[in-house]
Amino acid sequence: MNYENLNFDNVFVELLHWQQDQRGDYQKQLNTISPSQIGLCMRKVYFDEIKIDTSLPDKALKIFYNGNLIHDEFGYKVLDKYFKEVKRVKNAYIINEYPLKYIIKHNNVNLEVRGFIDDLLIVYDGQQDLKIPIELKSISNAFFKLKEPKPEHIMQVMLYLHFTKSKFGYIWYIHKDTLDSKTFKIEYDEEIYNMIVQRAKTFYDYKIKGSIPPAEANVFKNKDQFKNKCNYCKYIELCRQLGDNEVINK
Ligand code: SF4
Repeated sequence: MNYENLNFDNVFVELLHWQQDQRGDYQKQLNTISPSQIGLCMRKVYFDEIKIDTSLPDKALKIFYNGNLIHDEFGYKVLDKYFKEVKRVKNAYIINEYPLKYIIKHNNVNLEVRGFIDDLLIVYDGQQDLKIPIELKSISNAFFKLKEPKPEHIMQVMLYLHFTKSKFGYIWYIHKDTLDSKTFKIEYDEEIYNMIVQRAKTFYDYKIKGSIPPAEANVFKNKDQFKNKCNYCKYIELCRQLGDNEVINK
């Protein structure tokens, strides 16, 4: 170890890669549905799940690290202190990383919706506990143009609301540099929930057939849900070669 020539950016990057290696190679079960991915381009999620490219560039590792810092050091701590110490409420508390797991039946298969709710606010109203899920999203300069929550984030929260049997929850967008934030209330909507369930089943069917889903974000590029997504996708070259349609495994 040479202490006379330290470069702290290299130190940080090496640490991030080391942490990545420590996590090992987790293989997701075919029947697992992740709330954070259900609204993303099905083809991209398919490639992620079969681990077509496991490498993460240094820049992406730094962005994830920053996002985790905001989740762990900002979101939960602010809420916890606010309710406990600023407001001193006795009937409300906040739980960080609340585990979520439930089953969606699909033919004779159990699809498992699994994940963690960033923060769950629990309020006792004198008769029962009201559960209010809160999803934190740290974003960069897209923050300034943000007028409504992103469709994929609404879908994520809809699964939380269904699981906790809540009428509403929140998405809390935090600007990475300034810590300014925007809050959106999301109400439970049965129609959106049913659409998500159908989407989960369709995605499972592609996987079990071994066929690659259509290039959804390219086909529906004018939909808000998929706008500009291909521009940032690491699979864009492969995806173009495969074409827009489902690629059937023969
Ligand atoms: S390039 Fe676009 S359509 Fe293709 S996998 Fe990526 S996000 Fe999906």
